[in-house]
Amino acid sequence: MGKLRHGSDLLTELTAIAVRRGIQLGRIEAIGAVRQARIGFYDQSGQKYRYCTFEQPMEITQLIGNVSLKDENAFIHAHITLADETGKCYGGHLAHGTEVFACEFILEAYDGPTFERSFDVETGLQLWSI
Ligand code: ZN
Repeated sequence: MGKLRHGSDLLTELTAIAVRRGIQLGRIEAIGAVRQARIGFYDQSGQKYRYCTFEQPMEITQLIGNVSLKDENAFIHAHITLADETGKCYGGHLAHGTEVFACEFILEAYDGPTFERSFDVETGLQLWSI
């Protein structure tokens, strides 16, 4: 468990912590608040992410994700739900560009064979080759 630095990039910081602690397989969850956010929506027919940017403070009502390997490096895939000042929520694939105001996380490491991501022809995504 820990907290992220004020002003840091949420996804970059979580990834750096997994790398620093040598975690290659695990799960992540977090709550807190962001100063601004960038989340992705996967366009299934176009097979590419489209991004929404929120340039306003928001609450992290939930962040959940996993840690696996991509190109032999720890890789975090996380989805996030954010609430604005009226309680209205938005959610999607956590992308770089989400700036931490305050964030508390739980990162659980698992033993066992690693999961490696590779290109999946059907979806165009980097999925687990299991
Ligand atoms: Zn995703």
